[in-house]
Amino acid sequence: MLKSSRKPILAPPQAEKEYSVRIYPDQCDGCELCVEFCPVDVLEIDLESYNSRMLHYAKTAKPDDCVGCKQCERLCPTASIFISEKEVS
Ligand code: SF4
Ligand code: SF4
Repeated sequence: MLKSSRKPILAPPQAEKEYSVRIYPDQCDGCELCVEFCPVDVLEIDLESYNSRMLHYAKTAKPDDCVGCKQCERLCPTASIFISEKEVS
């Protein structure tokens, strides 16, 4: 069999990225900004639970869908939500 001397033009695909969403319920005011602006509906307000200030707070409804845009992190007025990247092989 002939050995090809052609080299790929494009870089090999990078490992897919996944993101983890961390929320601090006691800091959260339940303002829903993160819920409204998440483009893929990862977040929702937990209407069955209260934090230490007797407020409903944000929780992840579909954590695996996070695309790491960090809209939620930038918008949160109480710095209650953080996104971090995890590398998947
Ligand atoms: S980083 Fe983007 S996709 Fe992920 S939860 Fe926040 S707003 Fe949604
Ligand atoms: S934007 Fe911040 S304070 Fe508002 S619901 Fe989301 S996590 Fe809570």
